[in-house]
Amino acid sequence: MSSASPRTRWIFAGQLGPAFDDGGPMMIVEARSVFGRRPMHRAKAHLLLSAMRHRVAELGDRVEYHRVERYDEAVDGREDLEVIDPTSWAARRFVRRRGIAVLPSRGFVTSEQDFRDWADARAGKRLLMEDFYRSVRERTGLLMRGDQPEGGRWNYDHDNRNPPPKNASRLGLPDPWWPEEDAIDDEVRADLDQWQADGLVRLVGEDGPRRFAVTAAEAEESLKDFVESRLGDFGPFEDAMLSGDWTMAHSLLSAPMNLGLIDPLHVVETVVAAHASGEAPLRSVEGFVRQIIGWRDYVWHLYWYLGEGYRTDNNALGATTPLPEAFLNLDVDAIEANCLHETIDGMRRHRWAHHIQRLMVLGNWAIQHGYDPVALNDWSIDMFVDGTPWVMPANVIGMSQHADGGIVATKPYVSGGAYISKMSDFCGGCRFDPKVRLGEDACPFTAGYWAFLDRVEPRIRHNQRMAQPLAGLRRLADRDAVVDQERRRDHW
Ligand SMILES: Cc1cc2nc3c(=O)[nH]c(=O)nc-3n(C[C@H](O)[C@H](O)[C@H](O)COP(=O)(O)OP(=O)(O)OC[C@H]3O[C@@H](n4cnc5c(N)ncnc54)[C@H](O)[C@@H]3O)c2cc1C
Ligand code: SF4
Repeated sequence: MSSASPRTRWIFAGQLGPAFDDGGPMMIVEARSVFGRRPMHRAKAHLLLSAMRHRVAELGDRVEYHRVERYDEAVDGREDLEVIDPTSWAARRFVRRRGIAVLPSRGFVTSEQDFRDWADARAGKRLLMEDFYRSVRERTGLLMRGDQPEGGRWNYDHDNRNPPPKNASRLGLPDPWWPEEDAIDDEVRADLDQWQADGLVRLVGEDGPRRFAVTAAEAEESLKDFVESRLGDFGPFEDAMLSGDWTMAHSLLSAPMNLGLIDPLHVVETVVAAHASGEAPLRSVEGFVRQIIGWRDYVWHLYWYLGEGYRTDNNALGATTPLPEAFLNLDVDAIEANCLHETIDGMRRHRWAHHIQRLMVLGNWAIQHGYDPVALNDWSIDMFVDGTPWVMPANVIGMSQHADGGIVATKPYVSGGAYISKMSDFCGGCRFDPKVRLGEDACPFTAGYWAFLDRVEPRIRHNQRMAQPLAGLRRLADRDAVVDQERRRDHW
């Protein structure tokens, strides 16, 4: 390559916004094999392709666009390419093996070097999200008054996390802003139909209408709408679930952020500005900022810090059950547990579920039933509209399945039906009773909780934070009967 000609920047599906564009020539490669590796949610495949093709249309003459079967068809033999460091171990290996020039990653509030410095300074200590989050607040000055946190507290979790309003089936907020589909969306849909008819892809879940942003302009609309109509209620209802309200007060910004369409620092600055101008209460703003500069950056950095083997080499609870068809096909017909039925049906229809549904319904069910954590990790990547290889391991292998034995979370996130009953309206419409653990009405989460503890007791005995639940298990008069019932129960 002549030193005068600029390199062509190959951008990936997580790099489709202005933050990844420095004005030079660009290249986008649409490799069909990516969509055929495993079953994928149809609307997720649609979103990815739509976002790439919208970016191609925006960049016009400045972009080379390749539709190929495999990436190497477009890339091998090229000596003029550069990339912004991609977002998965596999993609990083691919570009390095081909000698492509690599620039530092973007799309997060902190750099990989920032995290390494922070982690190195804590040598030998636990890498707690809370400590990381505070260090990012201090470094960025977000929600800070000098060296003190805004409002005098770092954390408003105790004021938040309310149950849903009593006897309500919705929070009563205006419908979120939805994008309007265009000819590109139609073309993508037709291509997916054709690929499916040709047996090249296996798609599950319901199709359209598209609900998530595919351009920077749409992502900005989505942010504006969240700040105006839902941010105020985000904190109090961040953990609540209602069967008639699939979005609750959540931002729906994970997909556009993970596509690289909108910069996370811009998102949090907008939210902090809404607080400064009196439009949003601190409890909601702090709760939201923590999700992005805390959790999102933290799980991204852990993906690299914990190494590629973290996904596959951890199975601390000896979980090997294959995922059932109900999960694999998002088929809810036979699911009687109303909370699980609603959550998987929501994924089928909306390709999304909010955090507590993912953690305390889906994840809780999976850990109780000993689902293979790697299979769950990969299925989550394919089924969630915002699923990516980097976001899942800390969330699934670590937080939700405790397969890492306590690196990310000090104890398994597992609960009986009482938690779900308190935080949702699901139990009212369920044929089971969250208070009952034995007999016809026994709630599968409540009974499953004890059966889980019974099964993993030898593996978690040493965990001080599990001492109380295990003491409860030992006192359980009908322990054997509950365990036997759950062993025999045929869920679907
Ligand atoms: C088992 C499990 C699987 C998950 N899978 C994904 C996933 O595939 N993609 C994804 O982006 N998030 C995932 N999360 C985190 C979180 O549930 C989603 O980010 C959130 O539900 C997305 O909806 P939202 O944009 O409306 O989020 P909001 O509730 O409005 O939160 C704001 C933002 O905070 C960030 N965030 C909050 N928690 C996390 C977290 N634990 N990890 C990463 N980012 C976080 C997201 O960017 C999100 O957009 C998962 C969590 C669990 C427990
Ligand atoms: S009773 Fe149990 S299974 Fe039914 S909705 Fe409540 S927690 Fe879920």
